[in-house]
Amino acid sequence: MAEYVIYETVAVLQINNPPLNVLSHHVRRQLMSGLQQALQDTAVRSIVIMGKGQIFTAGADVKEFGTEKALSDPSLPTLVEAVAASNKPVVTAFHGTTLGGGVALALASHYRLAASSVKIGLPEVEIGIVPTCGVSQRLPRLVGLQTAVQMIVSAQTMSAQQALTTGLLDKVVSGDLLSEAVGFAKSVEVQALADRRVGSRAVPGADTAEDVLDAARKRLVRRSRGAIAPLTCLQAIQASLLPFETGMKREAELGQYLWTSWQTGALRYAFLAERTVKRWYLPGNKTVNYRTAEPLVINSVGVLGAGTMGVGITICLLQAGLKVVLIEANKTQLDKAVTLIQRSLGGRSHSKQLSHQAMQLRATTDYRQLGEVDLVIEAVFEDLALKRKVFQQLDSVTKPQAILATNTSGLDIDKIASATQRPDKVIGTHFFSPANVMRLLENIYGRHTSPETIATAMQLGATIGKVGVLVGNCPGFVGNRMKGLNFTEAMFLLEEGAEPQDVDKVLEEFGFAMGPFRVSDLAGGDVHWRRRIQAGLTTEQGPPPNTPLLYRQGNRYCPLADMLCMQGRFGQKTGAGWYRYESGSRAALPDAVVHRLILKHRQDNGLQRRNISSQEIVERCLYPLINEGFRILEEGLAAGPQDIDVIFLLGFGWPRHTGGPMYYADKVVGLGILLRCLEKYRALHPRSAHWVPSSLLQTMATQGTSLTAWAAGSRL
Ligand code: NAD
Repeated sequence: MAEYVIYETVAVLQINNPPLNVLSHHVRRQLMSGLQQALQDTAVRSIVIMGKGQIFTAGADVKEFGTEKALSDPSLPTLVEAVAASNKPVVTAFHGTTLGGGVALALASHYRLAASSVKIGLPEVEIGIVPTCGVSQRLPRLVGLQTAVQMIVSAQTMSAQQALTTGLLDKVVSGDLLSEAVGFAKSVEVQALADRRVGSRAVPGADTAEDVLDAARKRLVRRSRGAIAPLTCLQAIQASLLPFETGMKREAELGQYLWTSWQTGALRYAFLAERTVKRWYLPGNKTVNYRTAEPLVINSVGVLGAGTMGVGITICLLQAGLKVVLIEANKTQLDKAVTLIQRSLGGRSHSKQLSHQAMQLRATTDYRQLGEVDLVIEAVFEDLALKRKVFQQLDSVTKPQAILATNTSGLDIDKIASATQRPDKVIGTHFFSPANVMRLLENIYGRHTSPETIATAMQLGATIGKVGVLVGNCPGFVGNRMKGLNFTEAMFLLEEGAEPQDVDKVLEEFGFAMGPFRVSDLAGGDVHWRRRIQAGLTTEQGPPPNTPLLYRQGNRYCPLADMLCMQGRFGQKTGAGWYRYESGSRAALPDAVVHRLILKHRQDNGLQRRNISSQEIVERCLYPLINEGFRILEEGLAAGPQDIDVIFLLGFGWPRHTGGPMYYADKVVGLGILLRCLEKYRALHPRSAHWVPSSLLQTMATQGTSLTAWAAGSRL
């Protein structure tokens, strides 16, 4: 609801709809009636709009999206325009986080003031829509095009101080917001309103407008990679150069265009999927779930192995305020890691001026220091025998109730757990690199992992700002198991006629930040080469004895990646991989050496070159991965398609505007088309098992069932 109170000549309308003060229909109705009452009351000379509780308002009520209520009178646009039309000065006073519709109300007001801790943001573009209710028209008039672009198109949040500097705010207050706002409102009661109406102003710096918009457009074309919302938002901003009423019409048209686009649906799905996966459960036993299992309290964590992952994991644990004991076998590596961690946390190494977070770190080579920790995350080399040995040691040095987690990228959790006397307390916590940046935490339960251990790992993810996704135990788990197929097919495309840059370009146009060959060069080709050697697919000298070059372990095999690694071409770190890199540069340059290697490989093995279309590249690289996602659901290794989609959105840079692999298959490609495509490629490539359609997909496609509908029915 919204409360109406009079302070002498000032009417104060306070939004009171906890916890986020969203502008639901009943709130809008009361705000409108308060506004009308204040306008009619001759004793009232000014009006303050503010919020009670934690924040001013988080904006429109997402639960009303697409329902009658969103349009019921007064709709948000009607309320905003009533504020703008007021003939008594309206002051919006905000605090906490102010988003979307709250910004619209503020921009329509005649004055804006805010608490010094305020954060102001327009996240609409992230769910694929234009900020409407006049935001795209008033904001550029108030703060200029450049800042408006930053806020609307890049969804950058602003602090109170920044908002004051840009002119969005008239005043920042540090005292009591209500009394300051009432005092401010009184002080402007006699001021003329004409030039306080943002809609009647001209956009400042209109003479350089085209340059600003051109530069933004060029940046966006490069960055948005197929997402339509950012460029559409830019068009709306551009319309602010037109007369206000014309611009408002254009804003409404563009808003409608995006609102009805499939990308908005995908982005809203992605937004909700991140929340859905928190409601975890075991697909095979739904009684074990987020409601029935209680997490243990974790105050201190041990991290074992201070390499790339150990360092990143330690940083995010410390940033969350946890105590960390970091163990590393190699003293030189340990010292290097400590310096990196301190630097990242803002403290200076070898000085007493460490940040508070850095002071929570104890770094040592002595395992016995792990005696008191509540949980350990192991991040030593990816070697099962080593991990089993290390878990045995951890079992003996840690307290009996401590949880032992492994950061393995794909080794069998049960085999690691069986090295301990507490398999119920062993779990996989798979971080993604760089671990202090990537938001995904893939948590893997083994056969004996207890509900309490699962709940603790999921809770730990939330504590350190990650999105935890619970999955079952299988080689590569969900993410790496599916992702591997993408690279396999990308290499087959090279044998059939494509060049690495052709494949990368098409997948980058699809929306990935980097195509598979650039990713391989960045991560280091040797990492996967070592895994293929361990899996017996190849050796350091070439194919294992008596093995055909193009066929391994029952499937078609492309040896090109192995051939590059045998030449020491591991990617960026060696200056050459699928591409070449000039010294000090990360720019991937097509390499004649790779071109000749592929050509010779084709000639030596009688492989015919043909032209490969962009569509085939997308289908070949993405559909096997999606098919594997269906197999994962069929095998009960993920609770639902949302879990798989979140893994790909947050862990593998899958373009968010397509919703994730499973959503894309369901809503964009269509399951019937996907099935026919898999069958076509299966006939053409019978020696690749990944083209065999999963039975779940076959059933759904034949019955015309939607994956989203199927998932909605099974989710807790
Ligand atoms: P890394 O080689 O950078 O670091 C491993 C560290 O463990 C080294 O510093 C090593 O000295 C130390 N170590 C080895 N044996 C030890 C022992 N017995 N006791 C204490 N320390 C020991 O490796 P990384 O890239 O950080 O990977 C670590 C784990 O994380 C692996 O299981 C890997 O598969 C997994 N992982 C890696 C990535 C990635 O992108 N690098 C991503 C996800 C998961």
